[in-house]
Amino acid sequence: MNDLSSVPTPEDAPQRQRKPDWIRVKAPTSKGYGETRQLMRDLKLNTVCEEAACPNIGECWTKKHATVMILGDTCTRACAFCNVKTGMPGRVDPMEPQNVAELALKTGLEHIVITSVDRDDLPDGGASQFVKVIEALRAATPSTTIEILTPDFRNKMERAVEAIVMARPDVYNHNLETVPRLYPTIRPGARYYASLRLLEEVKRHDPSIFTKSGVMLGLGEERLEVHQVMDDMRCADIDFLTMGQYLRPTPKHAEVKEFVTPQAFKAYGAIARAKGFLQVASSPLTRSSYHAGADFAEMKAARDAKLAKAAALAGAGA
Ligand code: SF4
Repeated sequence: MNDLSSVPTPEDAPQRQRKPDWIRVKAPTSKGYGETRQLMRDLKLNTVCEEAACPNIGECWTKKHATVMILGDTCTRACAFCNVKTGMPGRVDPMEPQNVAELALKTGLEHIVITSVDRDDLPDGGASQFVKVIEALRAATPSTTIEILTPDFRNKMERAVEAIVMARPDVYNHNLETVPRLYPTIRPGARYYASLRLLEEVKRHDPSIFTKSGVMLGLGEERLEVHQVMDDMRCADIDFLTMGQYLRPTPKHAEVKEFVTPQAFKAYGAIARAKGFLQVASSPLTRSSYHAGADFAEMKAARDAKLAKAAALAGAGA
């Protein structure tokens, strides 16, 4: 996941890096925020918004946009950027798919994003729970579009992807998180090319499913390395790229090497568009699920326009 940046806790105040003005966000206080929070408690659902202490929580929850984190609140990995707790997770909640569906019904969400912790302890990595959640959502609220953000399903990727793709989410997201050179320190349990291959597999099984991936900037990556990641993503036919500023959750996590300016994010966004992504979101506060519904609608419109243009060209040439 890369919804993993944080509002600092009091314990890290002495070592806190001063954030530039463009990163600061207001504390969440709205009525809508409180209602979303209560709904999550009532339905016993975890969210990456809270677990990762996402800086956008005030804005998103006011609009009832939350990213549900299924399969518990404990991850079997310990990535250097991520605030989700690490350990041995508990049992899978059989009521979770129904509760996610109820959330979508109660909030009337047009687009929902579902993610999970890594569950290397489960034989299928948790893929069957993703399938059950998608099925419950389709049954309860068929018009809601579904975006999933999955782990890499290490050593069981093919079968996991096949099962999830057959359930037909609208968007399949898996984040590359950073450039390959930084994987050993930032994402040590994962392999860059395995993540790319996962996204390729999704398209191979069903080209109609949109694929999406994201990177965090500010971890020490070089500009040309980011461009190379974009090229790799395009080779894997990834439709949607997100880029946002990495924020250090606590002093125990990887440090911020650079606060990338809004102008630099804009420049990266322009390059990504020129490389052919259908949709690009690039700003300091971009997270993979930030404005996901509106971005999905734009991406769909972009694909429809592209297909219409190709059909018109084919017609003219016939
Ligand atoms: S950007 Fe994503 S993770 Fe952050 S609050 Fe919004 S929905 Fe939650």
